[in-house]
Amino acid sequence: MAQENQLKVGKVLKVTRKIYDVAVDDIIMPCVIRGKLAIEDSQYGSVRAGDNVQVLAASDGQGVIQEILPRKSSLSRIIASRAYKEQIIATNIDQILIIMSTQKPSFKSGLLDRYLIIAEKNQINALICINKIDLADKKDFDMYIDEYGKLGYTAFSTSALTGEGVDELINNLKQKVTLFVGYSGVGKSSLINAVEPDADIETQRISPKTNKGLHTTSSVQLFPLSFNGFAGDTPGIRELGLWNILRKDLQRYYVEFHKYANECQFVDCQHINEPGCAVKKALQSGHIFSERYKNYLTIYDSLKAAHYD
Ligand code: GDP
Ligand code: ZN
Repeated sequence: MAQENQLKVGKVLKVTRKIYDVAVDDIIMPCVIRGKLAIEDSQYGSVRAGDNVQVLAASDGQGVIQEILPRKSSLSRIIASRAYKEQIIATNIDQILIIMSTQKPSFKSGLLDRYLIIAEKNQINALICINKIDLADKKDFDMYIDEYGKLGYTAFSTSALTGEGVDELINNLKQKVTLFVGYSGVGKSSLINAVEPDADIETQRISPKTNKGLHTTSSVQLFPLSFNGFAGDTPGIRELGLWNILRKDLQRYYVEFHKYANECQFVDCQHINEPGCAVKKALQSGHIFSERYKNYLTIYDSLKAAHYD
């Protein structure tokens, strides 16, 4: 019996009340947690989706999580209903994939910019994928790919329907832990099915039909990709960490402002209507994408309304 209990390293895919789904080798092992690990033994407090853990695999296919291995990053949000406590919703996320469409639903650049702010704030790489290009005019989505590409973000287009661009999507997901985010109906589930055509049970779990009931909580669920890597989604990411940004700090997350900001007349320039603002000058000369600047003003106002300073 003793030799059947093996220590292995796995990745936590999903956290429910008592059972943790852990990817170990090629299987998903339901695990429990070694008593007290959650609070007392670990510097990390509790096990989260994305954690790499050491598990003791028992002969009955169950496992016991022994230890949380070092986290390289974590994505958290602040919960207003719990006295603004910070909650880690996922760890070791390499990148977020922001999915947009230009038609059905229409392009929501304000939402895109909010996701980018979240990524910048959490220092997580962000990729932009414009899906449903079979429904759109090439010039419409190319414009966004060009504008956001110029900011340094990897941006590309796909159609889950025709398969166009799916290879590029796969290349960007390989060896990475990627969180899929985007407005409802943009094709997140369809794209996951498109990158995993041999949909096994794991893929089924995230399909449009079956995924609804699973996400009763706002926790992240990761699933393994056959070409190495993990993909996951969270219904709660929209509330992630945006409104705990002070409005004066918002500009930090706009990568294109950086190179102009130190030429502004005032050190604490917010680039709204201060005299001698180099960012506004860059906007007027077409060096800053006007739609994104417009979103900056809207987001800035929303932070002001939240009484943070
Ligand atoms: P989700 O809510 O982001 O997961 O979106 P779904 O994957 O459920 O897709 C919403 C709807 O859009 C479904 O009816 C899909 O069949 C459709 N859809 C998804 N991707 C594409 C695409 O690339 N082109 C077209 N024409 N329809 C798509
Ligand atoms: Zn300025």
